[in-house]
Amino acid sequence: MSAKIIDGRAVAARIRGEVASGVEELLASSGRTPGLATVLVGEDPGSQVYVAGKQKACREVGMEAFDRRLPASASAEQVADELHALNADDAVSGVLLQLPLPDGLEGSELTSLISPEKDVDGLTPVNVGLLSLGRQGLRPCTPLGVMELLREAGVALEGAEAVVVGRSNLFGKPMAQLLLEANATVTTCHSRTRDLESVCSRAEVLIVAAGRPRMIGAEHVAPGTTVIDVGINRLTPEEAGNKSGLVGDVDFAAVAEVVSAITPVPGGVGPMTIAMLLRNTLEAARTQHPRTVRAHRRAPAPAR
Ligand code: NAP
Repeated sequence: MSAKIIDGRAVAARIRGEVASGVEELLASSGRTPGLATVLVGEDPGSQVYVAGKQKACREVGMEAFDRRLPASASAEQVADELHALNADDAVSGVLLQLPLPDGLEGSELTSLISPEKDVDGLTPVNVGLLSLGRQGLRPCTPLGVMELLREAGVALEGAEAVVVGRSNLFGKPMAQLLLEANATVTTCHSRTRDLESVCSRAEVLIVAAGRPRMIGAEHVAPGTTVIDVGINRLTPEEAGNKSGLVGDVDFAAVAEVVSAITPVPGGVGPMTIAMLLRNTLEAARTQHPRTVRAHRRAPAPAR
């Protein structure tokens, strides 16, 4: 294998250590401990695992963790009431509504009720707009984590050809904007892109988030490329060829023979998302101190 492996677990551990020091400093200087509130609606097993991981990670860096749960039968009004209460709670620096929501609840409408100062996922219209304008604000965690991995790998983005596969609001669009902010020349691909192979193969940095197991093969990449695989796909251990059953959107074995650097799945982008969530929560707490966050103006709850 010719590629250098970019170790997301190691970078994430360093960031968690930095956040833990930042939490101590904030406590010493202001008497304030950052707090993250997660809101989980329903009992989706995957979401329960993600929320438990976020809660545990918070405590490990010395933050407060608030675990709010609502039944799958909760109305939009009940979820909105919970979010408004957390917006108004001074002990809470960051609020995260775990997606996806049960059928009948609209995730993006409810997320938009989170106060922008507490929107540690960077998904409210205000923070999306600030990113698009190149102004300071809370940025989405997974794209931020990818930027950190590229920095760690020493990838020079200025003027570089960067290709992002996927255009979701959660990842692809903010990723493209962060790369643009770093002066890369950015192309975004999606399911209607003609000749994905030739677009990807001219990338110096290729970032893939399509949710299609191993869709990117050796024919999509060129020597010298840095490949970041955001995809998390669950197969059987036999299909995946590993114990976890997890594979990315990139055919790791084939692509690692060609490119110069690549992230593995698991152990690449995945661990970065929680690390950046912790960093965003610390950042939110610092911004909110010493003034009290204004209770976000109550907006009417979206209809079910
Ligand atoms: P999504 O909302 O389903 O978006 C997938 C995107 O990929 C869409 O823009 C879609 O195009 C595009 N796409 C699908 N098939 C394609 C194809 N054959 N060729 C080119 N583009 C194609 O997914 P997402 O939320 O962005 O997540 C994508 C993947 O990243 C998933 O595996 C998810 O689990 C993973 N993820 C991981 C993390 C993490 O923490 N590591 C965080 C977020 C997401 P259209 O827009 O045209 O449909």
